[in-house]
Amino acid sequence: MAQRRLGEMKPDFEFGWRPAGLGFLAAFLLLLVLLLPQAEANASARLGEFLDRVKASDIDSAADSFGEVEGNPPAAKLLKGGKRVSYGARAISDGGFQSIPKLVFPGGALIGDTAGFLNVPRIKGTHTAMKSGMMAAEAAVDAILSQRELDELTAYPAAFEQSWVKKELSVVRNVVPLVKKFGDFMGSGLAGITMWLEHLGIKVPFTMHHHPDNETLWRKDLVAKIDYPKPDGVLTFDRLSSVFLSNTNHEENQPVHLTLKDPSIPVDYDLPMFDEPAQRYCPAGVYEIVGQEEGNPRFVINAQNCVHCKTCDIKDPTQNITWVVPEGGGGPNYPNM
Ligand SMILES: Cc1cc2nc3c(=O)[nH]c(=O)nc-3n(C[C@H](O)[C@H](O)[C@H](O)COP(=O)(O)OP(=O)(O)OC[C@H]3O[C@@H](n4cnc5c(N)ncnc54)[C@H](O)[C@@H]3O)c2cc1C
Ligand code: SF4
Repeated sequence: MAQRRLGEMKPDFEFGWRPAGLGFLAAFLLLLVLLLPQAEANASARLGEFLDRVKASDIDSAADSFGEVEGNPPAAKLLKGGKRVSYGARAISDGGFQSIPKLVFPGGALIGDTAGFLNVPRIKGTHTAMKSGMMAAEAAVDAILSQRELDELTAYPAAFEQSWVKKELSVVRNVVPLVKKFGDFMGSGLAGITMWLEHLGIKVPFTMHHHPDNETLWRKDLVAKIDYPKPDGVLTFDRLSSVFLSNTNHEENQPVHLTLKDPSIPVDYDLPMFDEPAQRYCPAGVYEIVGQEEGNPRFVINAQNCVHCKTCDIKDPTQNITWVVPEGGGGPNYPNM
């Protein structure tokens, strides 16, 4: 899952550097002339943050470990004196090359992230989304011109096979499985080696596979509980105030867009087995277990807070949670992310 928080940095940050030579001095002065008129009104640069979560532990808390990132000394140095502006979260499709599904069906095609075209190590997918959209559009135009409106756009997967999108995704195909299998340190090192070999034209003779996300949770008795520090409201923040900044809104009196196939599973199975992970992985605090101290635990869904990241639909251990599109175009409103 990826989370992003947008902040305005303290005003002197942009101009805090010093030019080293004459060329830099000229560039600096030019920048100053161009930017100074807006500097008072704008007064800041914007900073986005990204956290890609590949850990399997069910005790990890998405929003709280995001706070840890903000609280670490180099990040804190950058953020100090700034102002939190916006917050958002989204599940990213990190299956990549080996998870690409059949790209076409009668009357439609899968493009962009839906097809798994995100380049995960670069955290970039807009370029592949655009290119796949262009390839699908060209195939669609050809099909319409030859009166084949309702059959499959076979020219699109054929174009994908020849495209740089396929090549780019193939080069990084082992990165996520290696990091998941061998951890951040060793996994990243091995991933780097495979990427460089592939970049140099040396094909690595294996393709590692993924495991479904919902099957990778560790039981609660196998992991130590993490006591995250309380948010300080300066550098680290609680979930609900972050959700407020995502401008999330849902029309009232509509059918709930988050449902359980079996309402007993969260308390009867997930709670004893995994300490109900939805309490932690949901970045918006939608899911709560209440009444535990009184010996009467109940699972509560605050659907109106949902920021539509769709993690629960993917990560729930028994695939018990179903996310559907709410009525009335509700959800987060990210004007500046
Ligand atoms: C935190 C973060 C940072 C990123 N940073 C970068 C970056 O710096 N550079 C980069 O290139 N990529 C980045 N990416 C990846 C990039 O955002 C995606 O790869 C890209 O947006 C994929 O484009 P898309 O059109 O396939 O999907 P999306 O941009 O996700 O568009 C899908 C759209 O469909 C809408 N939708 C979904 N369901 C329905 C429905 N049922 N009915 C109607 N509408 C629906 C969604 O609301 C959304 O607007 C980042 C991703 C994240 C999460
Ligand atoms: S309820 Fe599900 S989709 Fe909504 S914010 Fe929480 S994890 Fe994401």
